[in-house]
Amino acid sequence: MPHTPQHDAIDLSVRGVSKHYTGFTAVDQLSLDVAKGSFFSILGPSGCGKTTLLRMIAGFIAPDDGDIVIGGQSMRDVAPNRRPVNMVFQHLALFPMMSVGDNVGYGLARRGLGKADIQRKSEAMLERVGLPGTAGKRIDQLSGGQKQRVAIARSLVLEPTLLLLDEPLGALDLKLREHMKLELKQLQHEIGTTFVYITHDQSEALVMSDQVAVMNKGRFEQVGTPQQLYYQPASAFVAGFVGNSNRLEVSLSGAGEGVAASGLPLRLAAQHGDASGQQALFIRPETIALSRREADVAEYDNRLSCRVETLFFDGANSTVQVRDARYGTPLQVALPHTGQHADLQPGETVYLGIRAEHAKAYRE
Ligand code: ATP
Repeated sequence: MPHTPQHDAIDLSVRGVSKHYTGFTAVDQLSLDVAKGSFFSILGPSGCGKTTLLRMIAGFIAPDDGDIVIGGQSMRDVAPNRRPVNMVFQHLALFPMMSVGDNVGYGLARRGLGKADIQRKSEAMLERVGLPGTAGKRIDQLSGGQKQRVAIARSLVLEPTLLLLDEPLGALDLKLREHMKLELKQLQHEIGTTFVYITHDQSEALVMSDQVAVMNKGRFEQVGTPQQLYYQPASAFVAGFVGNSNRLEVSLSGAGEGVAASGLPLRLAAQHGDASGQQALFIRPETIALSRREADVAEYDNRLSCRVETLFFDGANSTVQVRDARYGTPLQVALPHTGQHADLQPGETVYLGIRAEHAKAYRE
């Protein structure tokens, strides 16, 4: 039975947690609640403090301030091996000389379970992660994706309240990573264990998570669903980090009006009221309408006449880079999946339409 997250119950509560190193704050008064049964990602660039936070949850590092509560219990005096958590590392840390079954059963053996129980539980867990009948194989007989699943089975068999995953797909090649992120989400959904997943890869976080905390310089910029982060980014950092955007430096001349650094006048979403001054403006490539006929964009708030520069095609998506004919501002526009405009030629003139609500300005 697929598991339904129970959003009323909280499995992990991080309460005002900080970690300082000499002259440097790696984690700065962070708080968050992770709902039972959810897939929660902590997303941020290298060095933002996500590993430090995860290691504090696991108990490998002690916070300088604040508390970590797992399953309703403060972890302040609880050693890592006594916490109801388990961790999956990028480099998996499987025992290559041992069989798949012995790897999965390792933690159970350390807990003193009998041989028959270990075998039964390990085989059942291998089946749940899609590897039935592999208990007798050696680790080096498995593919990268299968090893990944063994590492997860080895953690899940101990029935932790939380599974902590530290960039577990980072070492895989692109194709396998794309495949594993769908599998991992499906597996979490079926098993229902709460996953806390750290990654610097925004597409992984968007695809897999129920909730994402976007982290920057030791703080959370925004905590929300993937859709909230994508459609209502709370800051310039989130708007720039999550998904693709055209970014323009603008000076706002009044509510809902702005001028890009290149001189291009724009009507903007009035989300910052009477804000003025220098701001970063974000326009997603897929929100821009493009046509060879000027009349097609007549009713848009912003209408630009542009020259086509380059077409980028990566199979799933086509993007065209254009430049505003009057002000020289470069913009990227996603082309429709119907193949329309796939024949655009460099030097051609096209007309763009941008709605004010799709041009969002943020003070940095
Ligand atoms: P990455 O994805 O590269 O692992 P991260 O977001 O996980 O990055 P952390 O490993 O948590 O980042 O590190 C956060 C910051 O704290 C970094 O600037 C790092 O250099 C610093 N840091 C981590 N551990 C220590 C330490 N023991 N002493 C001093 N500084 C540290």
